[in-house]
Amino acid sequence: MSAQNRTDNRLCSSCGLCMISDWPKEETLGSCVFNTGWLGQHEVDLYGRERNADDHDEITFGISRKRVAGCIKNPLPGVAWSGVITSIAKKAIESGLVGAVATLHRDQHQHFKPVPVLARSVEDVLASSGNKPVVAPVLLSLHEACRQGVKKLLVIGAPCHIHALRHFKKHVSYLSDMEVHTVGIPCVSNVHLKTLGDIMNMFSTSPETVRHYEFMQDYTVHLKHANGRIERLPYFSIPREFTGTNLVMPACMCCLDYINGLADVTVGYIGAPLDMKKMYQWIIMRTEKGEHLMECIAPELDTTPLGGAGETHKAVTNAAKKLVDQITGKTPGETGRSMPIWAGKIMAALISKIGPRGEEFARYSLDLHQIRDYYYTKTYYQEKIDALVPGHVYRLLEKYGFER
Ligand SMILES: Cc1cc2nc3c(=O)[nH]c(=O)nc-3n(C[C@H](O)[C@H](O)[C@H](O)COP(=O)(O)OP(=O)(O)OC[C@H]3O[C@@H](n4cnc5c(N)ncnc54)[C@H](O)[C@@H]3O)c2cc1C
Repeated sequence: MSAQNRTDNRLCSSCGLCMISDWPKEETLGSCVFNTGWLGQHEVDLYGRERNADDHDEITFGISRKRVAGCIKNPLPGVAWSGVITSIAKKAIESGLVGAVATLHRDQHQHFKPVPVLARSVEDVLASSGNKPVVAPVLLSLHEACRQGVKKLLVIGAPCHIHALRHFKKHVSYLSDMEVHTVGIPCVSNVHLKTLGDIMNMFSTSPETVRHYEFMQDYTVHLKHANGRIERLPYFSIPREFTGTNLVMPACMCCLDYINGLADVTVGYIGAPLDMKKMYQWIIMRTEKGEHLMECIAPELDTTPLGGAGETHKAVTNAAKKLVDQITGKTPGETGRSMPIWAGKIMAALISKIGPRGEEFARYSLDLHQIRDYYYTKTYYQEKIDALVPGHVYRLLEKYGFER
């Protein structure tokens, strides 16, 4: 996409809040993250301060109390990794900690199509497991939760969901009597359901049988097929049409909170050691509520030490330079693979031994995408830059030698 063929100034990640027709649009749109901006004042509202831009970890991972790696000992069916999130939601419903969970089911006919749900039973929660790797209107269920008189709610969401939810709860009265808990997923480069088919065609030799895909710590995309086979596409062989920003949603290219810094607990994988049997996850507890949610599933969790190694600074700088040149038009229109798949696999094997590993891999991915998304916003949505970009992003640019 170029600035010229941008048809609409409005950024939208389909979080679902302004789709609620019973609440006035000016109230729901007033809480849209593309109107209120990323982090900044939201962090002050939640933590009493913004993240410390002089703190190497906080600038990247956000404000937190504790980071751990762990997996569920006996995974539930259909989960994305080991099922930490579904286990939290199940326990929260069973124990009465919450009366409902706002999350997603799958469409019965289209595997990747999300269907918002207000889960009120263990069965409903179990049916919500697994990734729907597209933008999804999770917050549509907020109105239903109010209508049903839910007093304690768990919301599972991407960063755009958690931002809009936090703002809406603070500034509009509908949720004021509701106690809200949040579990966040890290989220980056998300896409619309209607372009997912093109991406699978680009990534896989058997696009119609892909049931799960993930950008893994071994520098390859794992595409899991219906028969359990895992196809691996090295990052270095991803067609540049994908990274060229035509397919990722513009709203998701203007995201400056990949790590979900406002969730009570963020549950991802990128900072965890890669173990294809255990499927360790990376868990960042940010608030007292987040710590409590993790305590509730402590007996089910197997933990392992977090670690990190490798030269991240150079890796981020080099990779970000390529992406920034593409976005700003210095190297426009590059297509195809920069490396054939066989060569990409050799490169991925090498880099996963000597490149950023463990939490350094997480830092690599998080910092790289923050730089990319800053430049995308600056290039295509210049008029929104002051509203959207939190102060620490400028410190991050400085750290890697990029201009504002
Ligand atoms: C689009 C997308 C991008 C992601 N990118 C990263 C990443 O770069 N790095 C990283 O560490 N982790 C990322 N994750 C999170 C990761 O893939 C796992 O979802 C997470 O680690 C939880 O695993 P689990 O086994 O505990 O999940 P489960 O127990 O299976 O629970 C997953 C929960 O997430 C909900 N969910 C699924 N899709 C969505 C969606 N589109 N929006 C909101 N909620 C959803 C499900 O309904 C379910 O409640 C991403 C997830 C998605 C959906």
